Amino acid sequence: MVISIRNLTVEYRAGAEPFLALDVPNWEVGDEEQVAISGPSGSGKSTLLNVVAGLLAPTSGSVVVCGTELSDLGEAERDRFRAAHVSYIFQTFNLLQGYTAIENVLVGAAFSHGGVNRTQARELLAKVGLAHREHYYPSKLSIGEQQRVAIARALARKPKLILADEPTGSLDPKHAAGVVELLREACREHRCALVVVSHEMKIAEAFDRRVDFMTLNRALNGNGGAS
Ligand code: ADP
Ligand code: MG
Repeated sequence: MVISIRNLTVEYRAGAEPFLALDVPNWEVGDEEQVAISGPSGSGKSTLLNVVAGLLAPTSGSVVVCGTELSDLGEAERDRFRAAHVSYIFQTFNLLQGYTAIENVLVGAAFSHGGVNRTQARELLAKVGLAHREHYYPSKLSIGEQQRVAIARALARKPKLILADEPTGSLDPKHAAGVVELLREACREHRCALVVVSHEMKIAEAFDRRVDFMTLNRALNGNGGAS
């Protein structure tokens, strides 16, 4: 099991009253499994990914990712855990603007122990169809190309799990399906599990396992859903 969740809750304390954003009694993702999560904006999808990535501490419950119980860890330990096991792909890629495509991939690798060297980084860029863009800065790449660099960077860390939060949110529909297919293929090849969050039904439909977040997150019943 790459993810195993029991009785997870997450409360935000932004206002006077704590706000229950997440209540997930039970959820598992197997090694090398690929899962699509769909649900409306504000339903807590990013909150769940942030907890699984170790960016956000659970309020209560058990979250075991790659064999590590995250609820026992402090912030620095969670950062180390993430560097070792999990790659996160965002809607807006988060590429380092002052670095070329290949440098972005190498920086990704630098944060993990088992990361790739320059030759392997070059191979990863070739795999995502960007061999000819190795020395380009992000600003000179199309949006679709930038997201493919982000995929190569995610793989460079040799993670056991890739989390992708609306990875096609900035792409037009024509490129969106291709980028997700590329991501899925790469994860299969690297024997890495994949959780993709998307509110686009088209994206979710390509996956064998689809999770309806409205059903998974029991907090939505109490809160009356997205706000
Ligand atoms: P989604 O990714 O499905 O759009 P989010 O996980 O981003 O949903 O947010 C779920 C709910 O939690 C929303 O109502 C949002 O306003 C709230 N929320 C998210 N982040 C915070 C935060 N840092 N502090 C307070 N409330 C937050
Ligand atoms: Mg979100």
